[in-house]
Amino acid sequence: MNLFSLNYMDFEIKAKLKSSRARAGIITVPHGKIHTPYFIPVATSATVRALDQEDMNSLGAEVLLANTYHLHLKPGDKIIKKLGGLHKFMNWNRPLFTDSGGFQAFSLGYGMEHSINKLGTIFPEKKKAAEKQPKIAEINDDGVTFNDPSSGKLVHLNPKKSMQIQQNLGADIILAFDECTSPLSSYEYTKKAMERTHKWAKESLHHHKKSLIARKNKYKDKYGNQSLYGIVQGGAYKDLRIKSAKFISSLNFDGIAIGGSLGKSKEDMHRILSWVIQLLPENKPRHLLGIGEIEDIFKCVEKGIDTFDCVMPTRIGRRGSLFISPKSHGNLKNKFRINIKNLKYKLDRKPIDKNCECLACRKYSRAYMNHLYKSQELAYYKLASLHNLNFMLRLMEKIRDSICKSYFNELKNEWLKKY
Ligand SMILES: [Zn+2]
Repeated sequence: MNLFSLNYMDFEIKAKLKSSRARAGIITVPHGKIHTPYFIPVATSATVRALDQEDMNSLGAEVLLANTYHLHLKPGDKIIKKLGGLHKFMNWNRPLFTDSGGFQAFSLGYGMEHSINKLGTIFPEKKKAAEKQPKIAEINDDGVTFNDPSSGKLVHLNPKKSMQIQQNLGADIILAFDECTSPLSSYEYTKKAMERTHKWAKESLHHHKKSLIARKNKYKDKYGNQSLYGIVQGGAYKDLRIKSAKFISSLNFDGIAIGGSLGKSKEDMHRILSWVIQLLPENKPRHLLGIGEIEDIFKCVEKGIDTFDCVMPTRIGRRGSLFISPKSHGNLKNKFRINIKNLKYKLDRKPIDKNCECLACRKYSRAYMNHLYKSQELAYYKLASLHNLNFMLRLMEKIRDSICKSYFNELKNEWLKKY
């Protein structure tokens, strides 16, 4: 059987800039089209926190990313399969991504051990507490075994299991199982983890192809047909990143994701992306895992990234940070945010952002949002999440337009100008 015939994704590049690697295109999967560059909202447990799929439709979201780890534990991927798969379960008829579950599983190990996040920010207050706890993830070539912190249940994940879970969920685009290392991991450990990731990449592909062949013989509908992305690892080490980019590119994946530690600063991250992206095939979509700050979006699009996912817009929104554009005095210094809990907004009759057409900006003032936040009203979480996501999705529309009509550099300079 010709495995190449089992290709359920189409990626068409519509426009490319001459001055950089920025490109605009369309990914087509069974549930629809994704216009790239795209920011994918994260629906961790089959919903974007504080919102539902009607809200996501109202924002015109083209695709969501759900977390395999969370759905495997609750309500369980087998239950979701019984209920007709993730699209049906959450009533979302557009494209879906799921991640491999690896990032959360490994974060339990290294995040607890090193008390850090993806870009290496160290939380000293958490470090002390974490040191007292037993290490909860055990990693070897067979996969990762960990205690689910909420239920205490022992869970084992490996490439086969991750593929099975993601098949049960049935997203259009799924991710290979990889080992995500900490920014504080040594060269030797990062190398070992990268080699493991490469072995797991081949195993993930093998189990994915097997299930596609089985499906093809059993079902006629196109909706369960999935595409698989490989993940480039290698931490912040140049030779490892280059090796990983070459190896993952050589396999028959439908798209390529860049994962793992991206160094200890934004400069590190951009350096790593420059090493990696030039080695990736032009004709496959490239996804950057877990990055979503506005400055990073512009710079990573410029480097040739097609899709992003990040919980940041909704997470910071719930904590009071709401996005503003340059026309509402958003800039690099304030990270395009206002802090709505600030006293100065108590009597502010203006909308959050004067150019935003989301429900919160059309109907309510900053003063009202300040009040809702301070009163911890549930409506605040919904309105703040709607605003921040609308802001990101509209920004991406503008970025796509700017690539197609060749004014990306002007748009980037307008947003990222020094003051
Ligand atoms: Zn708004």
